[in-house]
Amino acid sequence: MTRRSRLFVDQPLDRSADVALARAQAHYLATVMRLKAGGAFHLFNGRDGEWLARLRTVGKRGAEAICVEKLAEPHLPPDIDYLFAPVKAARLDFIAQKATEMGARRLRPVITARTVVARIKTERLRANAIEAAEQCNLVAIPEVLPEEPLAQVLDRWETARRLVFCDEAGCGTSPLVTLKSLQPGPLAVLVGPEGGFAPEERERLLGLPCVTPVSLGPRILRADTAAVAILALVQAMLGDWR
Ligand code: SAH
Repeated sequence: MTRRSRLFVDQPLDRSADVALARAQAHYLATVMRLKAGGAFHLFNGRDGEWLARLRTVGKRGAEAICVEKLAEPHLPPDIDYLFAPVKAARLDFIAQKATEMGARRLRPVITARTVVARIKTERLRANAIEAAEQCNLVAIPEVLPEEPLAQVLDRWETARRLVFCDEAGCGTSPLVTLKSLQPGPLAVLVGPEGGFAPEERERLLGLPCVTPVSLGPRILRADTAAVAILALVQAMLGDWR
């Protein structure tokens, strides 16, 4: 059986609720997926779970659907913040998509000393997160926070949340050994920009009791590769891959 289409909508979902679909979604269902009136697909909004829906009418400007039956309850990914120094557009899109697929609960852009991209389009990050959530069966969308300077993030850090710092200049201890020593609980991971962290940023991070540095091996990974690598390790050791 081919997989049914899944679409995110920012509207309440409930039994018999009417749902208006935007032009791009109507085009996707009718033209790409060749769905006709009465055809079934799935809807989610990040709050009300996953719903079986049926297309009612479809036109060039949009479509209407009706919610038929709840298929799954809302379900949040593990409490993991993904903190990343923004990089240029295409790789940033990739980071938002991959961090969503890998099950980060929040996406938090942080501006570091060597961050070259100053303005972040939060809406674009969110659109990428939604696209990834639609195709990987996530019933929730990660929250996208506005960008913040790293120093301010650290000043306001909630001490109960362990910050796993991807340190390319680190000691080379296996990340499995490092992560194994941590207690389950709220987590965050931090990946730097293409230029890495400045020495004073690294020093500050290493001096904080809530920070655990990890190595991702002997090669320098690009920020988008490091995103996938660290989230795989953390999900397997402490998250929902166990
Ligand atoms: N300073 C580097 C590039 C940084 S790579 C340079 O030589 O140009 C971007 C980010 O990915 C780093 O800041 C770090 O957070 C993460 N990273 C890349 N490779 C890593 C490794 N081998 N171990 C730990 N973190 C790594």
